[in-house]
Amino acid sequence: MAMDISEGADCLLRPRLALLGGAFNPVHRGHLVLAKEVQAKLDVEGILFIPTGHPPHKDLPEVSCEERQKMLDLAIGATPGWRSSDVECRMAGPSYTARTISTLAITPLPFFIMGDDAFVDFWEWGEPEVILRGAHVVVVTRPGSTAPGVREGFMTVLRASGPFDPKMTRRGIDGVLEGHVREVVWSLPHFGTTLRYLRIEALSVSSTELRNGLAGKERDHWLELLPDAVKSYIVEKGIYLARPKSDDRFP
Ligand code: ATP
Repeated sequence: MAMDISEGADCLLRPRLALLGGAFNPVHRGHLVLAKEVQAKLDVEGILFIPTGHPPHKDLPEVSCEERQKMLDLAIGATPGWRSSDVECRMAGPSYTARTISTLAITPLPFFIMGDDAFVDFWEWGEPEVILRGAHVVVVTRPGSTAPGVREGFMTVLRASGPFDPKMTRRGIDGVLEGHVREVVWSLPHFGTTLRYLRIEALSVSSTELRNGLAGKERDHWLELLPDAVKSYIVEKGIYLARPKSDDRFP
């Protein structure tokens, strides 16, 4: 079931491109499942993968932006409509999504995809209003997210975006989380865009788990969660495979 509680979203120009930003440290099969599902469900022509140069909320990744983009390109291969962007690799200073979206200046306005784990603290990101004015935000379900955090994330954005019905909103969000609502769409009158919560069949894997796993004893299991060409590249180059010297948390 799909639920649409938007007003007037139909008159907006349909996005043709979806942006997927992230550290991609490294890109894994979960990212590809996410991109495929969004492309099919939102019927966009393409996905633009944007590796972060210097993430504002995380330590600087040890693997360079160029190398993470190289792995992304291997993962993308010849998939129609998919490509990567070096916009954040070239940016001096922290890679704020607001800056990236303004720099790209894509028309019609694109979708910007994020997992609901990332959306929980969206309002703390640099200039969230600029993001909401420059893209239609698509939040997707990710295994392990908890309802209170996700609900609060949506309520905070909706409060800043014009009148909304909190009871309906809560019902919609819970429906997506529980799996009996496929999608909820809100129009954001204050920003002239839309916000949606989309249920996807996500793969339960994160780059953090992968980095830890690749440096541990169960390496072969974790290698399988990488796209084939990325797996070969990582094995050949030996990146992520060495256990950090001062760290004995790994099994
Ligand atoms: P880390 O563990 O280092 O935080 P990550 O696996 O979350 O990494 P990112 O590159 O930070 O990967 O993620 C980019 C975007 O993709 C984020 O919006 C994140 O929520 C989303 N994402 C990552 N993995 C998945 C997954 N398995 N399913 C759905 N969304 C995902």
